[in-house]
Amino acid sequence: MAARTFLGTLRLAILIAVLLFVALGAWLDRARSRDWDNTLRVTVYPASHSTDPGVRAYTAALQAEDFADVESFFIDEASGYGITLERPVRIRVSHAARELPPVLPDRPGPLTIALWSLRLRYFAARTAWNDSLPAPDIQVFALYSRLGPGSTAMPDSVGLSKGLIALTHLYGDAAAAGSNQVVLVHEVLHTLGATDKYDFATGQPLVPEGLGEQDRQPLYPQDLGEIMAGRIATSARDAVVADSLEQMLVGPVTALEIGWPP
Ligand SMILES: [Zn+2]
Repeated sequence: MAARTFLGTLRLAILIAVLLFVALGAWLDRARSRDWDNTLRVTVYPASHSTDPGVRAYTAALQAEDFADVESFFIDEASGYGITLERPVRIRVSHAARELPPVLPDRPGPLTIALWSLRLRYFAARTAWNDSLPAPDIQVFALYSRLGPGSTAMPDSVGLSKGLIALTHLYGDAAAAGSNQVVLVHEVLHTLGATDKYDFATGQPLVPEGLGEQDRQPLYPQDLGEIMAGRIATSARDAVVADSLEQMLVGPVTALEIGWPP
Protein backbone atom coordinates (compact mmCIF):
# COMPACT_ATOMS: atom_id res chain seq x y z
CA MET A 1 0.00 0.00 0.00
CA ALA A 2 2.74 2.38 1.06
CA ALA A 3 4.71 1.52 -2.10
CA ARG A 4 1.67 2.18 -4.21
CA THR A 5 1.12 5.57 -2.63
CA PHE A 6 4.75 6.37 -3.16
CA LEU A 7 4.48 5.39 -6.85
CA GLY A 8 1.29 7.42 -7.18
CA THR A 9 3.00 10.47 -5.71
CA LEU A 10 6.01 9.93 -7.94
CA ARG A 11 3.82 9.70 -11.02
CA LEU A 12 2.01 12.87 -10.08
CA ALA A 13 5.31 14.65 -9.45
CA ILE A 14 6.62 13.56 -12.85
CA LEU A 15 3.42 14.65 -14.57
CA ILE A 16 3.58 18.08 -12.94
CA ALA A 17 7.26 18.39 -13.88
CA VAL A 18 6.47 17.54 -17.52
CA LEU A 19 3.61 20.05 -17.62
CA LEU A 20 5.78 22.78 -16.10
CA PHE A 21 8.53 21.96 -18.56
CA VAL A 22 6.12 22.18 -21.52
CA ALA A 23 4.63 25.43 -20.21
CA LEU A 24 8.04 27.00 -19.63
CA GLY A 25 9.26 25.88 -23.05
CA ALA A 26 6.17 27.33 -24.73
CA TRP A 27 6.58 30.61 -22.85
CA LEU A 28 10.28 30.89 -23.80
CA ASP A 29 9.54 30.02 -27.46
CA ARG A 30 6.81 32.58 -27.62
CA ALA A 31 8.89 35.32 -25.98
CA ARG A 32 11.75 34.62 -28.37
CA SER A 33 9.45 34.51 -31.41
CA ARG A 34 7.96 37.91 -30.61
CA ASP A 35 11.10 39.95 -30.06
CA TRP A 36 11.52 40.46 -33.85
CA ASP A 37 15.31 40.59 -33.56
CA ASN A 38 15.80 37.75 -35.99
CA THR A 39 13.98 36.33 -38.97
CA LEU A 40 11.21 33.96 -37.91
CA ARG A 41 11.61 30.66 -39.71
CA VAL A 42 8.32 29.14 -40.72
CA THR A 43 8.11 25.68 -42.26
CA VAL A 44 4.96 24.70 -44.16
CA TYR A 45 4.25 20.96 -44.41
CA PRO A 46 1.70 20.45 -47.20
CA ALA A 47 -0.38 17.27 -47.18
CA SER A 48 -3.30 16.19 -49.31
CA HIS A 49 -6.49 15.70 -47.31
CA SER A 50 -8.18 14.30 -50.40
CA THR A 51 -7.79 11.30 -52.70
CA ASP A 52 -8.38 13.58 -55.69
CA PRO A 53 -5.36 13.21 -58.05
CA GLY A 54 -5.39 16.94 -58.87
CA VAL A 55 -5.17 17.90 -55.20
CA ARG A 56 -2.44 15.33 -54.61
CA ALA A 57 -0.37 16.60 -57.54
CA TYR A 58 -0.89 20.23 -56.49
CA THR A 59 0.14 19.49 -52.90
CA ALA A 60 3.20 17.45 -53.90
CA ALA A 61 4.48 20.24 -56.19
CA LEU A 62 4.25 23.09 -53.65
CA GLN A 63 7.49 24.97 -53.03
CA ALA A 64 8.64 27.97 -50.99
CA GLU A 65 8.10 30.24 -54.02
CA ASP A 66 4.38 29.51 -53.81
CA PHE A 67 4.37 31.39 -50.51
CA ALA A 68 6.46 34.38 -51.60
CA ASP A 69 3.48 36.71 -51.04
CA VAL A 70 3.45 35.74 -47.36
CA GLU A 71 7.03 36.95 -46.95
CA SER A 72 6.25 40.20 -48.81
CA PHE A 73 3.19 40.74 -46.62
CA PHE A 74 5.29 40.55 -43.46
CA ILE A 75 7.96 42.86 -44.93
CA ASP A 76 5.38 45.52 -45.87
CA GLU A 77 3.33 45.32 -42.68
CA ALA A 78 6.22 45.08 -40.22
CA SER A 79 8.01 48.07 -41.76
CA GLY A 80 4.83 50.11 -41.24
CA TYR A 81 5.21 49.47 -37.50
CA GLY A 82 8.90 50.35 -37.44
CA ILE A 83 10.34 46.82 -37.61
CA THR A 84 13.57 47.24 -39.54
CA LEU A 85 14.24 43.54 -40.02
CA GLU A 86 14.93 42.99 -43.72
CA ARG A 87 13.04 39.71 -43.78
CA PRO A 88 10.76 39.31 -40.74
CA VAL A 89 9.50 35.89 -41.85
CA ARG A 90 11.07 33.25 -44.02
CA ILE A 91 8.94 30.43 -45.42
CA ARG A 92 10.23 27.01 -46.26
CA VAL A 93 8.26 24.11 -47.60
CA SER A 94 8.96 20.60 -46.38
CA HIS A 95 7.49 17.37 -47.67
CA ALA A 96 8.81 15.49 -44.64
CA ALA A 97 5.40 14.88 -43.01
CA ARG A 98 4.62 11.33 -44.10
CA GLU A 99 1.31 11.05 -42.28
CA LEU A 100 -1.58 13.42 -41.72
CA PRO A 101 -1.51 15.42 -38.49
CA PRO A 102 -4.13 14.61 -35.83
CA VAL A 103 -7.30 16.56 -36.59
CA LEU A 104 -9.53 18.03 -33.88
CA PRO A 105 -12.95 16.30 -33.80
CA ASP A 106 -16.17 18.30 -34.11
CA ARG A 107 -17.45 20.04 -30.98
CA PRO A 108 -14.60 19.00 -28.71
CA GLY A 109 -14.69 19.38 -24.95
CA PRO A 110 -11.80 20.91 -22.98
CA LEU A 111 -10.18 17.53 -22.28
CA THR A 112 -10.38 16.50 -25.95
CA ILE A 113 -8.75 19.79 -26.94
CA ALA A 114 -5.98 19.35 -24.36
CA LEU A 115 -5.23 15.78 -25.50
CA TRP A 116 -5.40 16.74 -29.18
CA SER A 117 -3.03 19.65 -28.58
CA LEU A 118 -0.52 17.27 -26.93
CA ARG A 119 -0.84 14.82 -29.82
CA LEU A 120 -0.31 17.61 -32.35
CA ARG A 121 2.77 18.78 -30.46
CA TYR A 122 4.15 15.27 -30.44
CA PHE A 123 3.41 14.89 -34.15
CA ALA A 124 5.11 18.24 -34.85
CA ALA A 125 8.20 17.34 -32.83
CA ARG A 126 8.49 13.99 -34.62
CA THR A 127 8.09 15.64 -38.03
CA ALA A 128 10.81 18.21 -37.28
CA TRP A 129 13.04 15.39 -36.05
CA ASN A 130 12.62 13.45 -39.32
CA ASP A 131 13.24 16.53 -41.47
CA SER A 132 16.59 17.30 -43.02
CA LEU A 133 15.77 21.05 -42.88
CA PRO A 134 16.79 22.83 -39.67
CA ALA A 135 14.05 22.95 -37.00
CA PRO A 136 11.89 26.04 -37.63
CA ASP A 137 10.46 28.55 -35.15
CA ILE A 138 6.90 27.92 -36.37
CA GLN A 139 5.46 24.77 -37.96
CA VAL A 140 2.42 25.02 -40.21
CA PHE A 141 0.66 21.81 -41.23
CA ALA A 142 -1.35 22.59 -44.35
CA LEU A 143 -4.09 20.13 -45.27
CA TYR A 144 -5.37 20.58 -48.81
CA SER A 145 -8.90 19.66 -49.91
CA ARG A 146 -10.71 19.86 -53.22
CA LEU A 147 -12.13 23.21 -54.34
CA GLY A 148 -15.45 23.54 -56.11
CA PRO A 149 -18.84 21.82 -56.27
CA GLY A 150 -19.04 18.76 -54.07
CA SER A 151 -16.29 19.96 -51.78
CA THR A 152 -17.39 19.59 -48.19
CA ALA A 153 -17.40 22.38 -45.63
CA MET A 154 -13.92 23.09 -44.41
CA PRO A 155 -13.05 22.43 -40.77
CA ASP A 156 -11.65 25.42 -38.91
CA SER A 157 -7.96 26.09 -39.07
CA VAL A 158 -6.23 26.46 -35.74
CA GLY A 159 -3.06 28.10 -34.55
CA LEU A 160 -1.85 27.02 -31.12
CA SER A 161 -0.96 30.19 -29.26
CA LYS A 162 1.28 28.07 -27.07
CA GLY A 163 3.59 25.84 -29.03
CA LEU A 164 4.08 27.77 -32.29
CA ILE A 165 2.20 25.20 -34.36
CA ALA A 166 -0.68 25.82 -36.77
CA LEU A 167 -2.99 23.42 -38.55
CA THR A 168 -4.60 24.98 -41.62
CA HIS A 169 -7.25 23.68 -43.99
CA LEU A 170 -6.67 24.98 -47.51
CA TYR A 171 -7.83 24.32 -51.06
CA GLY A 172 -5.56 22.31 -53.33
CA ASP A 173 -6.11 24.45 -56.38
CA ALA A 174 -4.08 27.25 -57.97
CA ALA A 175 -7.27 29.36 -58.09
CA ALA A 176 -7.30 29.45 -54.28
CA ALA A 177 -3.61 30.26 -53.82
CA GLY A 178 -4.36 33.86 -52.73
CA SER A 179 -7.09 33.06 -50.21
CA ASN A 180 -4.99 30.13 -48.91
CA GLN A 181 -2.23 32.57 -48.04
CA VAL A 182 -4.67 34.78 -46.16
CA VAL A 183 -5.67 31.77 -44.00
CA LEU A 184 -2.05 30.77 -43.52
CA VAL A 185 -0.92 34.21 -42.32
CA HIS A 186 -3.96 34.42 -40.01
CA GLU A 187 -2.98 31.16 -38.32
CA VAL A 188 0.72 32.05 -38.11
CA LEU A 189 -0.28 35.28 -36.34
CA HIS A 190 -2.38 33.24 -33.87
CA THR A 191 0.76 31.30 -32.93
CA LEU A 192 2.38 34.66 -32.14
CA GLY A 193 -0.46 35.69 -29.83
CA ALA A 194 -2.86 37.53 -32.14
CA THR A 195 -6.57 37.12 -31.35
CA ASP A 196 -9.53 36.85 -33.74
CA LYS A 197 -11.23 40.12 -34.67
CA TYR A 198 -14.56 38.89 -35.94
CA ASP A 199 -17.89 38.05 -34.33
CA PHE A 200 -17.90 34.28 -33.74
CA ALA A 201 -21.66 34.08 -34.29
CA THR A 202 -21.85 35.94 -37.59
CA GLY A 203 -18.30 36.00 -38.95
CA GLN A 204 -18.61 39.78 -39.31
CA PRO A 205 -15.41 41.81 -38.65
CA LEU A 206 -15.46 43.63 -35.30
CA VAL A 207 -15.69 47.42 -35.36
CA PRO A 208 -13.28 49.09 -35.31
CA GLU A 209 -10.41 46.63 -34.66
CA GLY A 210 -11.47 44.17 -37.39
CA LEU A 211 -11.63 46.79 -40.12
CA GLY A 212 -8.82 47.50 -42.55
CA GLU A 213 -9.81 51.14 -42.92
CA GLN A 214 -11.03 52.34 -39.54
CA ASP A 215 -11.12 56.01 -40.54
CA ARG A 216 -12.90 55.58 -43.85
CA GLN A 217 -15.77 58.00 -44.55
CA PRO A 218 -18.35 56.66 -45.10
CA LEU A 219 -17.20 53.55 -43.27
CA TYR A 220 -18.60 51.04 -45.81
CA PRO A 221 -17.80 49.42 -48.13
CA GLN A 222 -14.24 48.75 -47.01
CA ASP A 223 -11.61 47.91 -49.62
CA LEU A 224 -9.14 46.41 -47.16
CA GLY A 225 -9.54 43.85 -44.40
CA GLU A 226 -7.76 43.26 -41.11
CA ILE A 227 -5.94 39.93 -41.25
CA MET A 228 -7.31 38.63 -37.92
CA ALA A 229 -10.87 39.49 -39.00
CA GLY A 230 -10.22 37.25 -42.01
CA ARG A 231 -12.75 39.05 -44.20
CA ILE A 232 -13.46 42.47 -45.66
CA ALA A 233 -16.60 44.25 -44.43
CA THR A 234 -18.66 45.47 -47.39
CA SER A 235 -21.39 46.76 -45.05
CA ALA A 236 -22.24 46.58 -41.35
CA ARG A 237 -23.74 43.12 -41.98
CA ASP A 238 -21.82 41.70 -44.91
CA ALA A 239 -18.25 40.68 -45.47
CA VAL A 240 -16.35 38.96 -48.26
CA VAL A 241 -13.39 36.60 -48.26
CA ALA A 242 -10.18 38.21 -49.50
CA ASP A 243 -8.71 36.87 -52.75
CA SER A 244 -5.18 37.80 -51.79
CA LEU A 245 -2.98 39.27 -49.08
CA GLU A 246 -2.88 42.53 -51.05
CA GLN A 247 -6.35 43.24 -49.70
CA MET A 248 -5.32 42.61 -46.09
CA LEU A 249 -3.33 44.47 -43.47
CA VAL A 250 -2.23 44.14 -39.85
CA GLY A 251 -4.28 46.53 -37.72
CA PRO A 252 -2.95 48.30 -34.62
CA VAL A 253 -4.50 45.88 -32.08
CA THR A 254 -3.03 42.81 -33.81
CA ALA A 255 0.32 44.59 -34.16
CA LEU A 256 0.42 45.21 -30.41
CA GLU A 257 -0.51 41.59 -29.66
CA ILE A 258 2.39 40.21 -31.71
CA GLY A 259 4.94 42.60 -30.27
CA TRP A 260 5.21 45.29 -32.95
CA PRO A 261 5.78 48.71 -31.40
CA PRO A 262 2.83 51.15 -31.49
ZN1 LIG B 1 -8.58 32.80 -36.11
